[in-house]
Amino acid sequence: MNSFQLENYKANILIVDDIADNLRVLSNTLNEQGYKVRSVTNGTMALRVAHSAHPDLILLDIKMPDMDGYEVCEQLKSDPQTKDIPVIFLSALDEALDKVKAFAVGGVDYITKPFQFEEVLARINNQLQIQLAKAQIKKLNEELELRVIQRTTQLEKEISERQKVQEKLMHMALHDPLTELPNRTWLMNRLEQIVNACQQHPSYLFAVLFLDCDRFKIINDSLGHLVGDQLLISLARRLESCLQPGNTLSRFGGDEFVILLEKINSPQDAIHIAQTIHQELLPSFHLDDHEVFTNVSIGIVIGNSNYNNCFHLLRDADIALYQAKTNARGSYQLFNPQMYTDANKRLKLETDLRLAIEKEEFVIYYQPIINLQTGNITGFESLIRWQHPQQGLITPNEFIPIAEETGLILQLDLWVFKKACQQINSWQEKFNYPFTLNINLSPKHFSHTQLITKIENILKKTQLRNDCLKIEITENAIIEHDLYAKGILESLKSREIQVCIDDFGTGYSSLSYLYRFPVDVLKIDRSFISQIQENGDNMELVQAIITLAEQLKIEVVAEGIETAYQLQFLRDLNCDFGQGYFFAKPLESRLVEDLLSQHQQW
Ligand code: C2E
Ligand code: CA
Ligand code: CA
Repeated sequence: MNSFQLENYKANILIVDDIADNLRVLSNTLNEQGYKVRSVTNGTMALRVAHSAHPDLILLDIKMPDMDGYEVCEQLKSDPQTKDIPVIFLSALDEALDKVKAFAVGGVDYITKPFQFEEVLARINNQLQIQLAKAQIKKLNEELELRVIQRTTQLEKEISERQKVQEKLMHMALHDPLTELPNRTWLMNRLEQIVNACQQHPSYLFAVLFLDCDRFKIINDSLGHLVGDQLLISLARRLESCLQPGNTLSRFGGDEFVILLEKINSPQDAIHIAQTIHQELLPSFHLDDHEVFTNVSIGIVIGNSNYNNCFHLLRDADIALYQAKTNARGSYQLFNPQMYTDANKRLKLETDLRLAIEKEEFVIYYQPIINLQTGNITGFESLIRWQHPQQGLITPNEFIPIAEETGLILQLDLWVFKKACQQINSWQEKFNYPFTLNINLSPKHFSHTQLITKIENILKKTQLRNDCLKIEITENAIIEHDLYAKGILESLKSREIQVCIDDFGTGYSSLSYLYRFPVDVLKIDRSFISQIQENGDNMELVQAIITLAEQLKIEVVAEGIETAYQLQFLRDLNCDFGQGYFFAKPLESRLVEDLLSQHQQW
């Protein structure tokens, strides 16, 4: 209600006075002003009416027969029904008005008789306004309270929604969307906690297993990313099934996973998990219509209070993984400090290798290849060595893998190509014989489209005839790069450059690729030849390979002939060519020339 409404609203006023004249005059005047007036003549009635009719205001005389105004007021104020009704005391001039008491018992104002009506009206109006204002404030307060309650529930809802979003974001930040596994960030956080906790408890042991999926790239490239993704998901589920509660599998990235064993009793616990995993991965995965086999190489590091940094833990797990992969795909390896030393050495070699290429610190050795029917040298395999200024001669097995990993192999092999072609060409002229040159080619070249043009340029420059060149590629290289390999082999073939399968028999058991790719020569791996001994086993394998090659019209070179017995055995099988320490080790050019000058025959 605002003051305008007040003007239209007929406020109820109760007048309490034992003198009838007073009552009449007052009520007439107030009636004229538009108030609704009731009047009573003693305290008891005043209380009753106030209670039942609840007037907007009470004009209360102090002196009354049954009880005085103060007492009436006190009782009004103690009754919840009437306590809020404003009371204005009326007193005659001659009566002693105790103003303090009037306010103390709850009165809001007082008027002394005889009345000046303007004053009476002003005071009444004043009180009613105050009353109205109070009511409005009360109402506003109630509304406000209601709004606060509503807003609070809304806020609570908003907060819980925000929390949900936050939790979702948090989940996304710490998980891999494909496999739903905890991700690298999660792992690093958790590892850091464990490493810190470990500092307080020196006897505490935990383990980190670094897993890398063997052959994932091949599967991904050949069957497509969708199948690759499915494989990662299925693999994740299978790996999880090998773990106890409290141990976590996380996806580190790509096809790399990390398992955290939060508490172990001995390294044996971690090894046991690695063995379980290898066992679990033996059965194939069924993805779409494909049946896929995959395995993982595992590097294991045992965490203890010696580690105060989670990066060192992962570094060592990774070093162990590298070692596992080098030993055999699908194996595990426990980290030991020697591996760290070796890894550093490798790193040093890597730096040195870059410089070595600039400084041409390499030498090419040539190992003769013998025609087993005539016993004459028909050609040479070029084998690179690194003449390291401090470490001396380093064999290719030590630096070729590094060169491959770092991409330096491209420059290196092309350098060998150029030098070796020059060398063979000069021997051809000097000894007047069309020696052939076998060159090893890293599979890393297969993705380089310009390989063929580069080889062609070198042949042109060095003037070596195309049909004297034989490129050696391992069977793994061909199969792993199926798509590129076919194209490259065919364009080599069309240029009359021959293709040899190196280390034949060590790679894939399937021989079907021999029918699909244009192959000219099989080089039987040394491991088969070394089995050729008196009373030896497995010698039928060599025979089988030679028979197969005969049928396919592919030439055969036996690698690593070391004994006269092996030579005779191979000759009896009609093996075409041979190579090995029995004839000659890989030799420097100067020694090759000595050998050629002697017209050595076997
Ligand atoms: P590979 O192509 O299988 O070469 C044959 C390896 O067997 C050579 O080792 C050779 O010295 C060794 N060998 C030959 N006859 C015998 C024998 O009778 N007994 C024994 N025990 N070993 C014998 P090497 O020279 O250490 O080369 C190792 C590997 O490095 C090569 O294996 C080849 O894969 C790679 N490689 C060598 N030179 C090059 C190159 O210029 N480029 C590339 N990409 N790889 C190369
Ligand atoms: Ca070779
Ligand atoms: Ca070989």
